[in-house]
Amino acid sequence: MDCIFCKIVAGELPAAKVYEDKRFLAFLDINPINKGHVLVIPKEHHEALTNTPVDILKDLIAIVKTLAPAVVSGAGGAGFNLGVNNGKVAGQLVDHVHFHIIPRLDNDNLHPWPGKQYAEGEKESYAQRILKSLES
Ligand code: 5GP
Ligand code: ZN
Repeated sequence: MDCIFCKIVAGELPAAKVYEDKRFLAFLDINPINKGHVLVIPKEHHEALTNTPVDILKDLIAIVKTLAPAVVSGAGGAGFNLGVNNGKVAGQLVDHVHFHIIPRLDNDNLHPWPGKQYAEGEKESYAQRILKSLES
């Protein structure tokens, strides 16, 4: 399997591990947004969040909940961002589902995404489109 994260799981590539059990692994991102940035993955290969079984995601989020405060504390931070990039257009570079835990420091100067404005009636139209997609 030509997947970097599967290779880390298999021990074929090194990683700075911070959590491991039979089904999950967490390790430092090689190119951190802030130092201490952690990736949490299921050992089983699934391409993206949207095709990962819910039972795996439930256990993954439980690990994130336990791990995130330790990441924040270890990084000397004050909070964290939890991120999932789903699909190429969203910036997903590694096609093995993973959650980013990004520790946030006071005055770390990482600005959130800029917000857009809805035109008159547009909000309702987007809500309808999403509701329709859910039904189909
Ligand atoms: P994505 O953009 O797919 O959500 O995030 C992939 C993340 O994996 C990136 O933040 C990138 O820095 C990290 N990454 C890519 N290759 C490696 C690697 O070989 N080792 C580790 N530890 N992280 C990696
Ligand atoms: Zn994989």
